[in-house]
Amino acid sequence: MIIGILKEEGSENRVALLPESVSTLVKMMITVYVEKDAGLRAFASDAAYIEAGATIAAKADVISESEMLIRINPPSETEIAQMKEKTVLLAVLNPFFNVALVKSLAQKNITSFSLDVIPRTSRAQSMDILSSMATVAGYKAVLTAANMLPKFFPMFMTAAGTITPAKVLILGAGVAGLQALATSRKLGAVVEVFDVRAAVKEEVVGLGGKFVEVEGAIDDKAAGGYAVEQTDDFKKKQAAAVHDHAVKSDVVICTAQIPGKKAPLLLTKVTVEAMKPGSVIIDLAASTGGNCEVTQNDASIIHHEVKIIGNSSFPVDMPSDASKMFGKNTINFLKLMISAKGEFNLNWQDDIVKGTCVTHDHEIVHERVKSIITV
Ligand code: NAD
Repeated sequence: MIIGILKEEGSENRVALLPESVSTLVKMMITVYVEKDAGLRAFASDAAYIEAGATIAAKADVISESEMLIRINPPSETEIAQMKEKTVLLAVLNPFFNVALVKSLAQKNITSFSLDVIPRTSRAQSMDILSSMATVAGYKAVLTAANMLPKFFPMFMTAAGTITPAKVLILGAGVAGLQALATSRKLGAVVEVFDVRAAVKEEVVGLGGKFVEVEGAIDDKAAGGYAVEQTDDFKKKQAAAVHDHAVKSDVVICTAQIPGKKAPLLLTKVTVEAMKPGSVIIDLAASTGGNCEVTQNDASIIHHEVKIIGNSSFPVDMPSDASKMFGKNTINFLKLMISAKGEFNLNWQDDIVKGTCVTHDHEIVHERVKSIITV
């Protein structure tokens, strides 16, 4: 089969597959076309792709020659128009929010797979691009905070006296939150962590953090390990607890999300105004509304001498390893659909393949996406 890798546009620095992932595909008997300059911003030259066994081509040729196209961000309407019917597409489609895109893909008879909806089962862990990107985001969030903070992260005993360590508060202990905890601890900060899922307490303590408990959280086992919307009474108790801890912190890293919903509001304007001058808030949930009331998505602002960074796209700033992880995850997913002879083999019996497919044969086939969209 022929697979094409498209170049990303705009502020995106990553590429879906680096040359090392391309050489894995070539060993799987796959022919690979790469759009000219696709990897440049992730420091992968066209020459490196050629060495890995790919052919470099113009966008239009990559689209017309390939049976499968892989990219990170959704294709444009122009690209969809250029695709042949029945092309297989792998990308992060964000299908619950990109309704028009999903409809276009169904109309054009594209078999699309959205890598952000891969079921979160243990067998799919090696394919989970959300975990990989959350790892990058949690790490970069802490480095950004440390860079902006007007004081040290670690404790220092110096001839000029003792420097106390920075206090970091992390809201949400999912993949990004746990990575932020581990990175903050490596830099020597004292770290506290909030989450509504009691199951993460052990992991938080194991990584050297203090788990702050608020009683009365709804921890729904049926939500598959995810958080669910909380009661108003709990939200009030939680806001009070977050306030008490935030005003003593130097850094707050916000990572709390509820899949398919607006992010929970955990850090009010009143709390921000009571924080120490010079404190830093990094809001990784900015694109889904933010955990902090003052956050502006894709903007860095100062409110009452507190810096608030609304950034949900830190992986763009670490394109080498972010692309490497994205490519490895994607290849692990692809292995479910490629035969020993390098041919495409759509196995509907596989729950991961079925659970990731959004459109096929002119239809929206993903049950949850279909329930919110009618073609
Ligand atoms: P996420 O990005 O959806 O949310 C981040 C964290 O915010 C979660 O821990 C969540 O509990 C927390 N949160 C939500 N509302 C909150 C509130 N009001 N107050 C405080 N915290 C709140 O989560 P994620 O990082 O994508 O991971 C969620 C779960 O999925 C974890 O249990 C993780 O282990 C699991 N997971 C499984 C796989 C797999 O098996 N393939 C892969 C990745 C993650």
